[in-house]
Amino acid sequence: MDLVYLDNAATTPLDERVLSAMLPHLGGLRGNPSSLHAAGASAREAVEAARGSVAALVGASPHEVFFTSGGTEADNLALLGLARSARPEKRHAVVSKVEHAAVREAAKYLEKSGFEITWLGVDGYGTVDPEKLESSLRDDTAFAAVMWANNEVGTLQPVRKLAEVCAERGIPLHCDAVQAAGREDIDAGEVPVSTLALSAHKLYGPQGVGALYVRDGGEVCPILFGGGQEGGLRSGTEDVAGIAGFGEAARLAREEMTGRTSHEAALRDRIIAGTTELPGVRLNGHPERRLSNNVHLTVDGVEAEGLVLVLDALGYAVGKGSACSSAGHKASPVLEAMGQGEREAFSAVRVSIGKDNAPEEVEGFIEAFAGCVERLRELSPVRTEAGIS
Ligand code: PLP
Repeated sequence: MDLVYLDNAATTPLDERVLSAMLPHLGGLRGNPSSLHAAGASAREAVEAARGSVAALVGASPHEVFFTSGGTEADNLALLGLARSARPEKRHAVVSKVEHAAVREAAKYLEKSGFEITWLGVDGYGTVDPEKLESSLRDDTAFAAVMWANNEVGTLQPVRKLAEVCAERGIPLHCDAVQAAGREDIDAGEVPVSTLALSAHKLYGPQGVGALYVRDGGEVCPILFGGGQEGGLRSGTEDVAGIAGFGEAARLAREEMTGRTSHEAALRDRIIAGTTELPGVRLNGHPERRLSNNVHLTVDGVEAEGLVLVLDALGYAVGKGSACSSAGHKASPVLEAMGQGEREAFSAVRVSIGKDNAPEEVEGFIEAFAGCVERLRELSPVRTEAGIS
């Protein structure tokens, strides 16, 4: 049975063309990009070519892109690095309540270290209000952090407005663009964000590689110390193969973005229509301002884990809709911030489409989904409580 993969927000399959770009750097003689000899120079060339492609994807200059081990490290580097580079009297930051754990946990760490964090709420769609951001900024605010697109419910934030609000006050805005890159038109030349986190494996590149964009002249202190690679911001010998793959993935994402997103959006809308016509199935996140590939559903009377496993047994891979915190079995803060209760959070699934999904797969999924929901509701003790008949 072929697996129909509908969990592209978790990770995307490695594009064959990306793999081909990585292979020359995986076997045989591999130089260290910092070495002076020809093998080193060839590795350096691959890293710099990739830097150019990643920069082009987000409208940046190559010297504003710093490779990391992924989106998590890029987010940590941004938050801790912005906090450490701020003047000593600036000990306050504003962070949205719907951030990915990589931002949220870094902010909590800062909170424990004496920083004051204002946790910025969202509306029922998960959207941050620029006016609320503006009123939470203070003279001692070191930075703010609001993501471009939410990884759970897919809602897009009004990033341009948010960035302008911060820029007017001279406060850096960190934006986690891990889910948005390759799907949204990101132009750092136009939108005055200070830093952007990116990750290769969300755009058909390898896992374990990412980048932080830092606007020219922006001050971010390193969090890793060593040989001074990546302009001193991220010490450690570069993952040349991974970076070469990221570069190729970014190049392809830029070139193919329009076709990919319209293909995804058509499948997304078909899934939304086909699933929400069932009783007790609702779409979460913004109905229009959402990622082209994200469908996030609450399925009343059904426990998400069970639904994911039953669908998996039928050959459909989807994600649980509420990323649990690792410490204990609590629903993610994202749905909570949107005003949903724990019961709803545990009944949420995320279906995320990719560029290679076919319309027939989506039709098969809709049928399988309807059958699974019906069966699970018949078995579920919460069925009557949820009022499903
Ligand atoms: N930020 C967002 C919005 C994400 O969706 C993810 C991954 O799920 C990350 C950060 C972390 O990226 P990585 O898996 O590359 O560490």
